[in-house]
Amino acid sequence: MYDENNIFAKILRGEIPCDKIYEDDNVLFFYDINPLAKVHVLGIPKVKCKDFSEFVKKTNPEKITNFFKKTEMIINRLEIADSGYRIISNSGHDGGQEVPHFHIHILGGEKITNFFKLDLK
Ligand code: AMP
Repeated sequence: MYDENNIFAKILRGEIPCDKIYEDDNVLFFYDINPLAKVHVLGIPKVKCKDFSEFVKKTNPEKITNFFKKTEMIINRLEIADSGYRIISNSGHDGGQEVPHFHIHILGGEKITNFFKLDLK
């Protein structure tokens, strides 16, 4: 079940501020508050889905495609398309997910050498 009080739901409702890069009716991209690379951006679709599986199962294909098209647009806007980047989506307990609203991490701006967050816990 989707937790309406998760941090990203609060950001989407405007109850908590974020360092916004891009927003439209369907998506929001903003900087991670605790960056683990020179560029660390989060992307969230405006759907009530707790993780990747829910997003794919419950969302219409047009919205899914749009989310990834917008992700690609942001990667270009961040000017990391040529140097490279990593996209990650943590899911559930074993995936180390902290915020239960489906999101992707876009990491770049430097060589990403470690497994994401594995060494932080
Ligand atoms: P995950 O572990 O995949 O659920 O990632 C959650 C991410 O959200 C972490 O990288 C946090 O640093 C980030 N985060 C938590 N609260 C905020 C916030 N208020 N603004 C921006 N990023 C946040």
